[in-house]
Amino acid sequence: MVSKNRLAAIRLGLAALLPFCLSISTFGSGATTTKPSVPNTERETTARAFVEKSLRTWQNRLDLNDWKVTAELVPASALEPKTLGNIHWDLNLKEASIHVLSASDYKLPTPEMLNDMEFTVVHELIHLHLASLPHTSASRRPEERAVNEIARALLRLAEPKN
Ligand SMILES: [Zn+2]
Repeated sequence: MVSKNRLAAIRLGLAALLPFCLSISTFGSGATTTKPSVPNTERETTARAFVEKSLRTWQNRLDLNDWKVTAELVPASALEPKTLGNIHWDLNLKEASIHVLSASDYKLPTPEMLNDMEFTVVHELIHLHLASLPHTSASRRPEERAVNEIARALLRLAEPKN
């Protein structure tokens, strides 16, 4: 049996250990690449709807409605190793696409998986606020740490109080 606290610890551990991938790309490049598909299970459908809802909620909360942001679930093979998601953006067009690890590649039970996916969405959206800053190999780790801390604090604030 896995206790709730243990799961929370695992989740925090995951968030702390797995670096999120930050990618900057020119939109429209590589348009001919074939995307690996994810299976159409009920868990995947639930996850896709949840991620879409989370994206709209947090795009609003983070005041990013001037951006056109899409999100899709992708298999682990489409992400950098040990990452849970990434974001590609075009600062001039204000367009961004978020990739979130597919439900089929998540080992967590569905509720914990959805929490984790929400964290990924919030994390990747926060990167958009920093998109106009200079990005170097030296700035990457501190930015990831800061984005993780801000995302964690925002999600804690959004938790329903009993
Ligand atoms: Zn990141």
